[in-house]
Amino acid sequence: ALTIGIVGLPNVGKSTLFNALTKNTVLAANYPFATIEPNVGVVPLADQRLDRLAEIFGSQRILPAPVSFVDIAGIVRGASEGEGLGNKFLANIREADAICQVVRAFVDDDVVHVEGKVSPKDDIETINTELVLADLQTLESAIPRLEKEVKGKKTDKAVLDAALAAQKVLEVGDTLFAKGTAAGVDMVLARGLGLLTTKPFLYVFNLDEEGLTDQALHDELAAVVAPAEAIYLNAKLEADLAELDAEEAAELLESVGVSEPGMIQLARVGFQNLGLQTYLTAGPKEARAWTIRTGSTAPQAAGVIHTDFQRGFIKAEIVSFEDLDAHGSMAEARAAGKVRMEGKDYLMQDGDVVEFRFNV
Ligand code: GDP
Repeated sequence: ALTIGIVGLPNVGKSTLFNALTKNTVLAANYPFATIEPNVGVVPLADQRLDRLAEIFGSQRILPAPVSFVDIAGIVRGASEGEGLGNKFLANIREADAICQVVRAFVDDDVVHVEGKVSPKDDIETINTELVLADLQTLESAIPRLEKEVKGKKTDKAVLDAALAAQKVLEVGDTLFAKGTAAGVDMVLARGLGLLTTKPFLYVFNLDEEGLTDQALHDELAAVVAPAEAIYLNAKLEADLAELDAEEAAELLESVGVSEPGMIQLARVGFQNLGLQTYLTAGPKEARAWTIRTGSTAPQAAGVIHTDFQRGFIKAEIVSFEDLDAHGSMAEARAAGKVRMEGKDYLMQDGDVVEFRFNV
C-alpha cells in the first residue's frame, strides 16, 4: 500500500494529527490488517464508486484502498550532524513513498515554538536543509566508491554521473524533488542511490480554526511550497473528528466551513501525486479498491491481489465502472457488449471493474 512518511519539527502538531489517525477505531475495525505498528496509521482513500458496486453486487463490506502514514520522529535542526539522522529515521524514511512535512501555521503562545517564532517558510527550510545534508553525506561516501567501480567496469558510468549531478543540486541547498529533473539528474538512478530528497514532498499546514477557510493565507502558503502540493487542516479538529461518529463529524466539519477531514484530503493528494490509480473488484463478500501504478498491465494488477494471480494469469474480464454503473448489472453490461476479455498486455484504466482468470 501507499506509505506516506510524516516529518516535522517538534511541537507543530504531528502527534496530535497522528493520534487522530490511529484513534480512528471505525477505520481500524474495517481494515484487514492484523496488527498495526504504533507509529503507523491507515486512512482509506474515499471512493464513492465502491458504494455503488456494493449495491450492484450486494457486497457485505466495502474496502477502500488504504493509505498508510508513518510517523517519522527525530528531525530537528542539526539532526544530520554528529551521529547523523539515526538508523531508525533513515529506515523509516526510505520505506516511505512520499514525504509529508507538517508545518505549524497556528499561533498559540502557550505552545513553545522550537525556533522561537512561527514561520512556516523557515521551518520548511530547516527540514529541507537536514534532508539535503543527509543526501550530501550519502553521496560523500558513495561517489569515491562509484568512481572505483566505474574504473573497474563494475558500475555503469551513468550512475556516477547521476550522483555528481545530484551533488551539484544539493550543494546549493535544493532538494532533488524540486530541482533534480530540471538540472538533468537521472532521478531513477538517484533514487537507486537511496537519496531521500528524490521522494515526492507534500505539505500539511496546521492552521488555526480561522485559518481553515482563509483563502488568502492558503494562497500565500501554497506559493512557499510550489510545485509541491499543500493541504490545510487543523490538527486539534482532526483529533476531535476522530472521536465522533460519521454524522456528528459531518456536523462539526460544516460548523467550521470545511467539506471533508484533512486526512482524507491528504490521502487523496498523496495518491494522485504518486502516479497511482485504483481498479475495483466486487462480489457478494466485498467491494474493494486495489492500488496500482499508472501504466500497470493486467497481470501486474493481478499480482497486487496475490503473486499466484500474476504468475498464473490467463485473462481478465473487465468492464469500466461507468459502463457497469449505467447498465446496473453485470448481465446487462454483458448484453450491451460492455464486458471485455483482456489479455496480458492490457494496460489497466482507473476504475476498471475486474475479474481475473488464472491457473494455480
Ligand atoms: P509534535 O511535537 O509535532 O508531535 O506536536 P504535538 O502534536 O505534540 O503538539 C504540540 C502542542 O501543540 C500540543 O500542546 C498540542 O495540543 C498543540 N497543538 C497541536 N495542534 C494544534 C493546533 O492546531 N492549534 C493549537 N492551538 N495547538 C495545537
